[in-house]
Amino acid sequence: MQNQIKDKVVVITGASSGIGKVIAKAMAKNGAKVVLGARRKNQMQTIVDEIRNNGGAGVFLETDVTKRTDVLDLVDLALKTYGYLDAIVNNAGISELSRMDELDVEGWDKMIDVNLKGVLYGMAAAIPIFKAQKEGHIVNIISTSGIKIVQMQAVYASTKNAVRTITEAFRQESDGTIRITGISPGFVKTGLVDEMENQEMKKVILKKMEQFAINPEAIANAVIYAISQPKDVEVGDIVIRPSAQN
Ligand code: NDP
Repeated sequence: MQNQIKDKVVVITGASSGIGKVIAKAMAKNGAKVVLGARRKNQMQTIVDEIRNNGGAGVFLETDVTKRTDVLDLVDLALKTYGYLDAIVNNAGISELSRMDELDVEGWDKMIDVNLKGVLYGMAAAIPIFKAQKEGHIVNIISTSGIKIVQMQAVYASTKNAVRTITEAFRQESDGTIRITGISPGFVKTGLVDEMENQEMKKVILKKMEQFAINPEAIANAVIYAISQPKDVEVGDIVIRPSAQN
């Protein structure tokens, strides 16, 4: 199944670390031409160097997904470099977990901008190209935190559930030429909480990550599975949790 992504041109946001980085490397290993976007250039340079040293194809662009023009430029880089766009993986995301009554309004704004508006900008950049090509695939990285609602994750989960809603609505609106997949990971070993302001919450999440988080490869495999399907098959929702996650 995996060689069916050979030569596919795939844009991946949030590709400088964690799940996005592993998606980029795994796709390139399977022959896809990857276009990485995130804010940290040095990290992406290292990833692209590694991909090319292993015989793969990849480019990157400094991209802030909260800026629509940056996301348009990223997609444009895919077209200019490889002449086509097969898929976009809207993966960039942040988590600022806190109680609602702590009123971390700044954190709420940031999550809405990156996790929700960033995904919308990715879709808005790719859809016109997919329409012109009469094919394309959108993969949105969501989260199990929108499926099982727990304390401290109100706004994070809300942004993720907004993306879940948009993903399903788009699926219904699409005539099938543009496919869409939502992938909801549970705890995955990444640096997602490294920048978290709430130190108490950070400790709780890091402990869970240590205890049972799965490797990002599990998510990369799911992206490859979704994108590998024949044109008449659309994988809608994939939920991947550690077996021990309740
Ligand atoms: P990381 O923190 O390792 O990666 C997040 C990525 O998003 C980084 O590459 C970061 O790059 C990028 N990013 C953040 N803000 C922006 C921005 N404004 N513009 C462009 N890129 C940005 O975390 P994960 O790999 O864990 O997270 C990836 C996705 O998976 C997120 O959407 C997250 O919500 C989701 N997820 C993660 C889970 C987990 O347990 N790890 C569980 C469920 C979902 P840079 O800083 O260079 O811009």
